[in-house]
Amino acid sequence: MSLKGNAAVLTKPFNFEILEYPVPKVEFGGILIEVSASAICGSDLHAWRGERKMKGGIILGHELTGRIHTLGAGVSTDYLGKSLSIGDRVIFTYFSPCHRCYQCIRGKFTDCPSNFNLRKTIEEYPYCTGGFADYYYIRPGAFVFKVESHLTDDAITSINCALATVMSAIERSNMNTGDTVVIQGVGALGLYATLYARERGAGTIITIDGQENRLELSKKCGADHTININNIKDEFERIKIVKELSGSSNGADVVIEVAGVPQVINEGLEMLRLGGTFVEVGNIIPESNVNVDFNRILHGIKYVVPASFYEPWLLPIGVKLIERTKDKYPIANIISHNFKLNEINDAFNFSEWSRDGGTDVIRSVVMPK
Ligand SMILES: [Zn+2]
Ligand SMILES: [Zn+2]
Repeated sequence: MSLKGNAAVLTKPFNFEILEYPVPKVEFGGILIEVSASAICGSDLHAWRGERKMKGGIILGHELTGRIHTLGAGVSTDYLGKSLSIGDRVIFTYFSPCHRCYQCIRGKFTDCPSNFNLRKTIEEYPYCTGGFADYYYIRPGAFVFKVESHLTDDAITSINCALATVMSAIERSNMNTGDTVVIQGVGALGLYATLYARERGAGTIITIDGQENRLELSKKCGADHTININNIKDEFERIKIVKELSGSSNGADVVIEVAGVPQVINEGLEMLRLGGTFVEVGNIIPESNVNVDFNRILHGIKYVVPASFYEPWLLPIGVKLIERTKDKYPIANIISHNFKLNEINDAFNFSEWSRDGGTDVIRSVVMPK
């Protein structure tokens, strides 16, 4: 009899149903895992609200960890040569580059078009392409790493999306030691960006948000200054504050956009010094339109860099980072609420409510077992 699992299937916007689905035959190079923790990412909330087209019932969740259930033929080690066996805990890129395209042969795995084929419906092989389920299929081509650390499952679950994405954003900004870094938005990505910038040698870190509890948490993650947009409502005033705080450079060296709204982009660009870098991370849904005066980009000498997906080598470094700093920063407060699979509707409602400041949840995690 073939193996089956339960999954929270998004059948229409705002509605999950717990359904049984077949577990796929594992291909050469693939791995099937039993999910132990899967976090609710902002992009899951976009899908749940119906902001992306759906072809059928889908399983959301891509920020996850789990233990190996079945190893496909040809897989005996992770991507650092550590042996893999049934029961080993792993993290992995949620995207699977093809390893045989123009971008892949240049080593730019983040730019592979296959990365966008993330999710199938539950009718299509390999069915379990989302983390809110008993099983998840790691496709051939994804980068997999064994995690032998003492860290709990919920502490590592956000490494393969939230943490690695902002680590990549900061790497791509070419931030130097002592730089002034502005972080627009301090949900989970902004908090991780703050602590990574701090660990990587930022000079002054300024965080901007509308929720005071998140700004306070960002201070504990290493921010030097916070700007609450509800207290300082005028964007020109906020730009002035950033320029003053950045001292002689007269503007930030780096701005990381993780607010996920296009309205903050011009403000972020204006906060930069001449030659500063703006990294775009948050506007992940179509029609994130904004008017930008490209003369201000040209004569303001602003570098604009996208950070979508991330370099696979950041995953094991992310594990080490969390191991080393878990007592230094309130990492446990970033992953703030746990839910069971059958509580998923509550988990999403709760996360949505927190966007408006209704709860103090930063990242909710669903743990199927
Ligand atoms: Zn994500
Ligand atoms: Zn490719």
